[in-house]
Amino acid sequence: MIPVRAFEGKEVAVFGLGRSGIATCRALMAGGARVCAWDDNENARKAAEAAGVPLVDLNRRDWQTFAALVLSPGIPLRFPEPHRFVRMAQMLNVPVIGDMELFARAVNELRDVDRPRIVGITGTNGKSTTTALIGHILKACGKDVRVGGNIGIGVLDLEKLHGAAIYVLELSSYQLDLAESLRCDVAVMLNLSPDHLSRHGGMEGYVSAKRRIFRNQGPEDVAIVGVDDTRSGVMATQLSCEGLRRVVPVSAEYGLGRGVAVLDGMLQDSMTGRAEPPISIAAAKALPGRHNHQNVAAAYAACRALGLEPSDIIAAIQTFPGLPHRLETIGAFEGVRFINDSKATNAQAAEQAIRAFPNAYWIVGGRPKEEGIDDLAPLFGQVRKAYLIGESTEAFARVLTDKLDHVKCRTIDVAVEAAFNDARASGDINPVVLFSPACASFDQFRDFEQRGHAFRQEAAKLAKRRTTTEPA
Ligand code: ADP
Repeated sequence: MIPVRAFEGKEVAVFGLGRSGIATCRALMAGGARVCAWDDNENARKAAEAAGVPLVDLNRRDWQTFAALVLSPGIPLRFPEPHRFVRMAQMLNVPVIGDMELFARAVNELRDVDRPRIVGITGTNGKSTTTALIGHILKACGKDVRVGGNIGIGVLDLEKLHGAAIYVLELSSYQLDLAESLRCDVAVMLNLSPDHLSRHGGMEGYVSAKRRIFRNQGPEDVAIVGVDDTRSGVMATQLSCEGLRRVVPVSAEYGLGRGVAVLDGMLQDSMTGRAEPPISIAAAKALPGRHNHQNVAAAYAACRALGLEPSDIIAAIQTFPGLPHRLETIGAFEGVRFINDSKATNAQAAEQAIRAFPNAYWIVGGRPKEEGIDDLAPLFGQVRKAYLIGESTEAFARVLTDKLDHVKCRTIDVAVEAAFNDARASGDINPVVLFSPACASFDQFRDFEQRGHAFRQEAAKLAKRRTTTEPA
């Protein structure tokens, strides 16, 4: 745990008592603050109480005495409209911050020699993969590395600050909105496409939240920016023009005069302006597809910026085991491979999956995002057939009509069976059942993880049923 002394002797309201909210309370209390914690959900309050967190109903409290409101990133700050506690805080000039800001303040208090290095990672897609990959490389190279934030462990639950440590933090746009004084020694912004727009009041708000990852950076710091989509490319150019920090563009589409590119499985390092001999990353089996090559380019650049040797970085990339629910191969049965990409919660992520596994039997749907799957139309020719599940079934059927053969399955069990039967009967070489929903999971599941487990379970059930009833 990382004690936060920034509010020693002061009273702080904490709203939202999920895992990171409870960690926030503990960190503040360890730093001598008086915490008044609340959550509208009774179960969350019970869990917090059991963890020793003092509950105070913030609806009934006088807010004049609070030095800050620490908000869980899930709670609306500005859009669609600010939560009533946010409005209350703003009326009384109580700063509204997040756990990442508390972390930043704890770091900023330290003397230079005691200050750990911080690597932040954001972008619409690929944050978790890149964060885990950077963590994996640094660990393999013997560094004292702590990985957390929006992935796995909440930032204040990580091991305590230490001058030789490197914190590798996944940062969502919500967290960046609530972190004023975070300074990343290395900041990675992978890509930008429409997502969570209602929470940011549109694309402009979303892009500016992502751009905050580069705040407070100075000449010693490094900004690594994916340049494969137009908006990110513009951001890279703007940052270069500002001249405040070193900017390293990365790409999985274009060769770069200065930067890091991965093209056709070869990594090209020209970070210093001189092109090093290309290195093959073909052995990195857990990172299939061009999108993962963008993640590899970014992780490589980040580790180079931290002073690691190219050969050590490449060796570690090849042993990365991959993350569950991201283009994860969960097995093959009767020649049909099952790929679990439950984390594909938007069209851009599903696009990468379709590109990585052409001619797949594609299970798609859930709670649709505003943008739907219309943008994927040019790729429909690369899919054998679609199996529609979830709330989006009717809407997606309309999009696919006359463009892609599809069937309305509605639930994952029906879809897995139908897709498997078609794949098996197809005569295709190495057919793939691809679960890449392009939607949020909340219509039928708690989260993308539960949804991925359901897919895995259905595939396993099907395999078991067929082995017991139809011996090979
Ligand atoms: P995030 O943490 O940003 O949601 P993940 O690494 O968990 O990203 O991956 C989420 C989804 O996006 C997965 O379906 C994955 O295959 C896809 N994906 C991963 N990296 C990228 C990338 N660089 N560009 C586009 N899609 C990606």
